Amino acid sequence: MLQQTQVKIVIPYFNDFVKKIPNLKALSRSNEKKVLKLWEGLGYYNRAKNLHRSSKILIKKYKGKIPNNFEKLKELPGIGDYTANILLALIYNQPRIGLDANVKRVLFRLFNVNTWSAENLFKTKRNSDLAEALMEFGALICKPLDPKCTECKINKMCSYYKSELKIRFKKKVKIKLKSYDIFCYLKKDKKQIALTKNNNLGFLKKFNLPKIKKASKINKSWKFLCKYRNSISNKKLNISLYYKFSSKIPPKYNWYYLNKNNDFIPTFTKKIFRQVSHLY
Ligand code: SF4
Repeated sequence: MLQQTQVKIVIPYFNDFVKKIPNLKALSRSNEKKVLKLWEGLGYYNRAKNLHRSSKILIKKYKGKIPNNFEKLKELPGIGDYTANILLALIYNQPRIGLDANVKRVLFRLFNVNTWSAENLFKTKRNSDLAEALMEFGALICKPLDPKCTECKINKMCSYYKSELKIRFKKKVKIKLKSYDIFCYLKKDKKQIALTKNNNLGFLKKFNLPKIKKASKINKSWKFLCKYRNSISNKKLNISLYYKFSSKIPPKYNWYYLNKNNDFIPTFTKKIFRQVSHLY
């Protein structure tokens, strides 16, 4: 949950999740719909899907025990180098660290290095504590723009603190701007909208959405409703929203109520709900 998401946002989701799905076995036995519903609002829903798929593999193949081997961990859905390293450090106290942006910054500043091997630079029996401490230290003390150097307990050994020419770290995030048209079939008497999981946009694939296409010529049977912007990860989307009232919908679409729903609805789609609800 914490990947790409702030702690204060995650806490209520986490508490609710572990209350309803308290352990790995329960997770492996839950259906995906339930897991996604508990994740609803956190975004990056592939994390939830991968967690769920991994729980099934862990129960079936590893008897519910997380492997203590880097390569085996990386075979699990959604686990890359970073997550495998941090799991091995935190669970098995292996001499590894998760090199996220915070930790890289701390190490580069401290030692003025640009390649890294945990074993070479730290010898400790508390690898798990070290991995966790580096993440916290980068988030709270050695911050990107205003590191708290004067109150930092290790400033005497820090190359950055001692040097007069301070290196600045800038986040290089390429923002992609794209335009899409969204077409909503609406049922007038029931406050319903037709959604499908059958769209071919990579980043929204298999999520419940109205018809969505790259911006192009519009068929006159659709009425224009509004334009708005939506950001997803490093993409900024210019959305043009169209609608038509109809009781007939194409194959692979289903009706959903705008205001009460037990199904998982991604935040992206909920924004569409808000816009079209003005029509009722
Ligand atoms: S002295 Fe400043 S730059 Fe160096 S580790 Fe501490 S907070 Fe980071």
